Amino acid sequence: MAKIEMKTPLVEMDGDEMTRIIWQIIKDELICPYVDLKTEYYDLGLEYRDKTNDQVTIDSAEATKRLGVAVKCATITPNAARVEEYGLKQMWKSPNGTIRALLDGTVFRAPIVVKGIDPVVSCWKKPITIARHAYGDVYKNAEMRIDGPGKVELVYTAADGTERRELVHVFDGPGVVQGQHNLDASIESFARSCFEYALSTGQDLWFATKDTISKTYDHRFKDVFADIYEAEYRERFEAAGIEYFYTLIDDAVARVVKSEGGFIWACKNYDGDVMSDMLSSAFGSLAMMTSVLVSPHGYFEYEAAHGTVQRHYYKHLRGEATSTNSVATIFAWTGALRKRGELDELPELVDFANRLEAATIHTIESGRMTGDLARITSLENPETLGTREFILAIRETLDAEAAA
Ligand code: NAD
Repeated sequence: MAKIEMKTPLVEMDGDEMTRIIWQIIKDELICPYVDLKTEYYDLGLEYRDKTNDQVTIDSAEATKRLGVAVKCATITPNAARVEEYGLKQMWKSPNGTIRALLDGTVFRAPIVVKGIDPVVSCWKKPITIARHAYGDVYKNAEMRIDGPGKVELVYTAADGTERRELVHVFDGPGVVQGQHNLDASIESFARSCFEYALSTGQDLWFATKDTISKTYDHRFKDVFADIYEAEYRERFEAAGIEYFYTLIDDAVARVVKSEGGFIWACKNYDGDVMSDMLSSAFGSLAMMTSVLVSPHGYFEYEAAHGTVQRHYYKHLRGEATSTNSVATIFAWTGALRKRGELDELPELVDFANRLEAATIHTIESGRMTGDLARITSLENPETLGTREFILAIRETLDAEAAA
């Protein structure tokens, strides 16, 4: 059968450890036999990052700005132990952090929902996607221990030297104090990424803050979203049949646990940090969580939400059998191929991405899965497959479904 043609190459960012092994098997078994795969390849494996003084990470982000769509393998963020293990020149920064800073994006995380891996919350039928604002608030705070009685004030000194003061508290004993900030530009970029992603996936967008209590800070977030929605997105949302919905964060949490899912939940930095872990564990497994960086300039970078699965890699190096879950990495590839297909108007490529996702889900639903899922599934007598066997089982399903 003729392979599906591509027009524009994907930016391919290879990575580390067990996910690097999976990466190659996915390409060899699930993509290259069906697609005339075009990629611009960047090796973000730690050794090559070190060799190029991390220039390769910057080059891969620049390539994403040029080509629009990237697919990334999980990579090691070095710590002291890794510096020693790999004999690194220095403790290079997180590639994800570097790429995010260059593309100026928001990360959307969504669980892959499969029958037999049931969410803890029984009414959740569709995935809930979390969009976390990744700048400021408590993560860039200034804080102080207050030793005893005294006054704490916020002081703003304008460029012309004029001052504005706001009393925080008059302490009559010891305590603590914290100053936080955010930027209109960052909130605006976050809002646009969320509106764009809602349109691109055809899902409603929810946003929530605590604006009743925080009448200036959180209220600013609410206003920025509302203004941008009215000025730039209301008509497009109405045409797409989707909604933008704002509520208080406590009301949002209550509604989320009673919902069916199927929407995007935009969260301030701290809320997103906490809620994304709650959602991924309530939906089943980190290995079933996808992640996409969406830039307000229209660039997309797809990856799995998990790391390089180091423990399995050492087993693999010792020649022992592994059963590493490749689902989120497969969905990173299908997400990128589908987006490329949409942008280049290649319906066959979009269809292939959809069929590969369906084959992956159907393989698990037929009882064939990796060890992490076999341990939590409600299906009876699941068959636990090795890393490669699971990918080969998906290929079998894909071929059988294409022939049907
Ligand atoms: P990890 O996600 O690799 O593993 C965490 C736990 O989840 C482990 O117990 C692992 O067995 C399990 N797990 C994760 N993915 C799995 C899968 N696909 N199949 C089966 N089990 C899976 O995180 P970690 O161990 O904290 O970190 C390992 C390395 O990954 C670190 O060097 C870290 O810097 C890197 N990391 C990279 C990214 C990224 O590139 N996006 C994200 C997180 C961690």
